[in-house]
Amino acid sequence: MKHITLLLLTSVLIACSHQPDIYNTTNQSQNNEQSHQAPYVLLVSIDGFRWDYIEKYQPPFLSQFAKNSASLKSLQPSFPTKTFPNHLSIVTGSYPQHHGILNNRFHAPDLNKDYSISDPTAVTNGDFYLRKPIWVMAEEQGMRTASFFWPGSEAKIFGKKPTYFVNYDHNAPHQPRLDTVVNWFKLSAARRPHFVTTYFHDVDSAGHHYGPNSPQVAAAISKVDSSLQQLHHELTKLDIAVNIVIVSDHGMAQHNTGNFETLPKGLQQQFFSKGKGPIVHLYHNNKVPSLRQADITQALTQLNQQAQHYRCFEYQTIPVKFNAHKSQRIGDITCLANQGWAIGFSEHRIKGDHGWSQFASKDMDGIFYASGPAFKQGYQHPTTENIHIMPLLAHILGLQVTGPIDGKLEQLTPLLIDK
Ligand code: AMP
Ligand code: ZN
Ligand code: ZN
Repeated sequence: MKHITLLLLTSVLIACSHQPDIYNTTNQSQNNEQSHQAPYVLLVSIDGFRWDYIEKYQPPFLSQFAKNSASLKSLQPSFPTKTFPNHLSIVTGSYPQHHGILNNRFHAPDLNKDYSISDPTAVTNGDFYLRKPIWVMAEEQGMRTASFFWPGSEAKIFGKKPTYFVNYDHNAPHQPRLDTVVNWFKLSAARRPHFVTTYFHDVDSAGHHYGPNSPQVAAAISKVDSSLQQLHHELTKLDIAVNIVIVSDHGMAQHNTGNFETLPKGLQQQFFSKGKGPIVHLYHNNKVPSLRQADITQALTQLNQQAQHYRCFEYQTIPVKFNAHKSQRIGDITCLANQGWAIGFSEHRIKGDHGWSQFASKDMDGIFYASGPAFKQGYQHPTTENIHIMPLLAHILGLQVTGPIDGKLEQLTPLLIDK
């Protein structure tokens, strides 16, 4: 009996520890008059879901959802094809060089600070984020928003966070996430968020550990597919119609663990580096401009002379098509490996990866499937860059885009019933 009581108590405690305060009692803000009438949008990200996974793995719910949706042939990620830069591109409508999150880990010379997705102090420091995510514009315009995970959602950006948000936990189970999202949409009209995000890491994690062609990726897709089916089912029971937009940040490519090229170790005397694998950023240790340039030029020559499976660029000379030549946060020197190759100062052994050029193959492309009252059904549009999603969502929600963005609304209006 004692055991059973303890077991029950433990289960309740576990359940509670994952159950956020969905009513966020400290936050009583309400939608303003104008926002009451606005549509609802749920933005779901399946990290690392490659553009062709539906055809390859045929998950039952997503296959049906995609077929009936307004979709893109594939969603082209921004450079570099990593998680944080692309999630921020999706919600800010901007290239990483403009929104400021240049990779999952980078140095910001303008702030003299390092950013890393595993450092909560950095992730929640609004100074790193240079453009407004759509939830910030919504909150500024009196519309309530919510996020059960999205890169950047835990930071006060331009002074605002989503009304309801949850701190990221890689090991969080799906069920509380699904329940919370549904419960947010069940709040009273005054407090119900009109823009909600959620995120699943499972498919990306399996892709890295076992490669994109593995049974483990099939299992991860199947798990996320069941969760999304449940979420969709619960949302259809509500008395409001929610536009559901399912995206991914990038794809995934096979990496033969033997394909590793070491960068010249001597460079570590003058430079510190961020990242390894498909892309590496090098920053000169010396902040005095006159003492840096000769070393940078020399290092670049050395790197490119010895490089067999990669190319390096001084940041201003990164080819314009990457839209990454304007921000020094990408490093004094950026080295980009050929697809399937990894580079770094120490070995990198994983079976699948992303971060390679989005122009080298379609393997870096992700997905975009949208369904709901705003969208056409069974319509497919050609491959489009992910910076164009944000102005589309702003348009659906009736928000004004306040502040600069790179995306263009016209790129995706063909997906809409009423332009
Ligand atoms: P990548 O190295 O680009 O594959 O990054 C994927 C990882 O990003 C996942 O394994 C997640 O755990 C992590 N991640 C996703 N969202 C967040 C977040 N909001 N905060 C911290 N880490 C995150
Ligand atoms: Zn990712
Ligand atoms: Zn990944």
